[in-house]
Amino acid sequence: MLADAYDCVVFDCDGVLWSGGETVAQAKATLDALKAQNKKVYFMSNNSSRGPDVFRQVFESHGLGEHVKDERFMWNSVTAAQRWFKGRKTKKAYVVGCAALKDAIRGAGVTVVEPWKQMGATPEKLAEEAIDPAIDAVVLAFDKDYGYFEICYATRCLLENNAELVATNRDFQFPAQKNRKLPGNGAFVAAVCAASRREPDVVVGKPSRFALDAIVADAGVSARRTLMVGDMWSDVEFAHNAGCDALLVLSGVASLDDARRWSGITRPDFVAPDLTALLRPVERFPPAPSSSSRRWLLPSIVAAAAVAFLVSRRRGGAPPDRSDLDDATRWLTAK
Ligand SMILES: [Mg+2]
Repeated sequence: MLADAYDCVVFDCDGVLWSGGETVAQAKATLDALKAQNKKVYFMSNNSSRGPDVFRQVFESHGLGEHVKDERFMWNSVTAAQRWFKGRKTKKAYVVGCAALKDAIRGAGVTVVEPWKQMGATPEKLAEEAIDPAIDAVVLAFDKDYGYFEICYATRCLLENNAELVATNRDFQFPAQKNRKLPGNGAFVAAVCAASRREPDVVVGKPSRFALDAIVADAGVSARRTLMVGDMWSDVEFAHNAGCDALLVLSGVASLDDARRWSGITRPDFVAPDLTALLRPVERFPPAPSSSSRRWLLPSIVAAAAVAFLVSRRRGGAPPDRSDLDDATRWLTAK
């Protein structure tokens, strides 16, 4: 079965364990079977609005609570940010995001600065105010209430204090109700990056490799023996950026047509309807057509048209028809 090739399996949550609020069928049975085979089972969501307690409640509501009794196995952008700051000497951070994220960063020994939010203040007024010169990190996470003040304060910390820039993720959109796409944290990060002429020093969420590197290290396994299971391109890139394999499940956002279109690091190693495939043999997903074969495609078609034209001239000047072109294409592209 697929899981035999791996010592550690990392699951994305939404679209994999549950989808549209419903638990994916056999999710618990699959996780139980993996644990019974002594696989290390971790979870990694890009959600940066849930602290560990709320995140665990979501697992419990889907009957999966026992798999996250130990917090070590439950990761999201909040826990990843905490992990980042535990390994740093950061003193003060300006954090845009939810209370759970601020608590997690405080839990890593960092003072979280909460400047007085001046809604609607003019740029002239904002320029009058000093920023805290001790702020040495800026953290950008999803916050539906962010506006000019947040962009301005974050930018000034970067420009005036040369603070470190940490993003929880750069997801430019997220799927919302009625099939609509709404701006994600990436839109906010892009605004700050544009204003400061800086790029993030680290992105702690997917598809950046930071969290998966940390999970692989925690599990004490090799990346090669670790499988990431997800429902989006970012899960596949997350896996490959960290040297792991990726199983794309079709129980969430991505479709089989999406997977067929993806190439390079976005091409999944396996594709299956849902996570239960872990307990069955699964064939490798075929690689994308190579760029070398695509490179020859256009010259081949042009040459085929030329051959068809010459053939038609020999036949008395009639224009080449479709079958002439097909025959010539077959001849030119035959191995
Ligand atoms: Mg997902």
